[in-house]
Amino acid sequence: MGIVLDKDMDEERQGEALSMNDKEEGKKLFLESYGCAMNFSDSEVVASILIDQGYVTTQDSNEADVVLINTCSIRENAEQRIRNRLTQFNKAKKQKPGMVIGILGCMAERLKTNLLEEEKLVDLVAGPDSYRDLPGLIEAVDGGQKAVNVLLSRDETYADISPVRLDKNGVTGFVSITRGCDNMCSFCVVPFTRGRERSRDPHTIVQECAALYNAGYREVTLLGQNVDSYRWNMTSKGEIKDETKPTTNFAQLLEMVAGVHPKLRVRFSTSHPKDMTDDVLHAIAKHKNVCNYIHLPVQSGNSDVLKRMNRGYTREWYMNRIDAIKRIIPDCGISTDIITGFCDETEEQHQDTLSIMKEVRYDSAYMYKYSERPKTLAERKYEDNVPEDVKQRRLEEVIELQHKHSLAINNKQIGEIQEVLIEKESRRSSEQLMGRTDKNHKVIFDKKDAKIGDYVMVKITAANKASLKGEIVEV
Ligand code: SAM
Ligand code: SF4
Repeated sequence: MGIVLDKDMDEERQGEALSMNDKEEGKKLFLESYGCAMNFSDSEVVASILIDQGYVTTQDSNEADVVLINTCSIRENAEQRIRNRLTQFNKAKKQKPGMVIGILGCMAERLKTNLLEEEKLVDLVAGPDSYRDLPGLIEAVDGGQKAVNVLLSRDETYADISPVRLDKNGVTGFVSITRGCDNMCSFCVVPFTRGRERSRDPHTIVQECAALYNAGYREVTLLGQNVDSYRWNMTSKGEIKDETKPTTNFAQLLEMVAGVHPKLRVRFSTSHPKDMTDDVLHAIAKHKNVCNYIHLPVQSGNSDVLKRMNRGYTREWYMNRIDAIKRIIPDCGISTDIITGFCDETEEQHQDTLSIMKEVRYDSAYMYKYSERPKTLAERKYEDNVPEDVKQRRLEEVIELQHKHSLAINNKQIGEIQEVLIEKESRRSSEQLMGRTDKNHKVIFDKKDAKIGDYVMVKITAANKASLKGEIVEV
């Protein structure tokens, strides 16, 4: 199976073709995945469902019987890239007319039958909650029908499906803990494409993490659009759904997963500033294997912009959460997401974003220009009125400042000895390895006798804005 990843996943893994041991017999499946870690995790569920039905995987889309592309709608250019890819697959289909081309994920949900009936780019459309239906949908296409399922569910969590692991390293794995989002940030298409928020039974989460540990994995990342609103057996109003079952919040879930094994590192993404509690921070501080790293998207440093974004917090609230992190977990890596040029953003408001970056000093950041998305609150209510060149210039200023901070933070680590979990060979040399520190900094070092999946102590010897260099030391 060829899996290709796009932005929002770790840079290193973008565009990486991932595979598993391919068998020879059976219908051939080519699956490509774009967008965030949640999409990647969903692709593992899709692969599991189809392999169960006897499909085998291929890395070559030209020889595939079924080509599936798991898509992202978050920004307009993400969608354009996927349209281009679909056009390429359609050229291959001319040589192999029986090939089924299907679109999955957010773009499938957003555009529904449009890509099938108007643009005629696909034979099959499956939204994020309909993957169990994929074998039937493919069969319908084989029977000469067009196949669509874009029903969003209030309870689908794929909790009982053991995802086929598609990442090559066998060390780090994603585990979804919630699906959907109830937040309605005004710029964001996710609530429309992924539906209402649902939490997954904590025991299935713990089981999946334990299975990963037993299979040799040494790190899990718990995934949700807003992990802090994880609540098992409670409605969003805090009412208990079933008196016979215990309730679990995110802090409690973290403790449960931390207990799987002391050698299994636990990360999570994404935290939401409006919901992140001190209890979560205390759980991180208490367990050595819960990594000292929090991704806390700020989006903007100005309270009026945050209000228009419908983020549910002010600059002061956000800084209160940052202060709590620094107080409870003194040595914690912090990263963020920033959007420049949101509707009506003035130069002064942009300066507030630069100033909050200076106050927090993020270890790293994902930085974007605002991209208006159809049907969102911002599209209906505000004008996308910051000129493109201004959005771009503001983005460049944000990136330049972040690079300065990342470099300074990385340089400060030179001379320190840090524990690193080895993930893979370095891209530059097979004689070197790449791993991450607890605070999520990437470190490159000579192999010596170490292996992928080992924890090693590394002395940091050099740094740039993106990564650290070091050497393994005995302790
Ligand atoms: N749920 C996460 C949260 O609330 O922070 C983030 C999910 S979203 C997939 C990842 C990031 O994409 C957001 O944090 C935001 O910075 C960015 N994003 C979302 N919609 C966008 C838009 N319309 N234009 C530009 N960036 C956008
Ligand atoms: Fe989108 Fe906001 Fe939900 Fe994140 S919390 S997925 S930005 S609506």
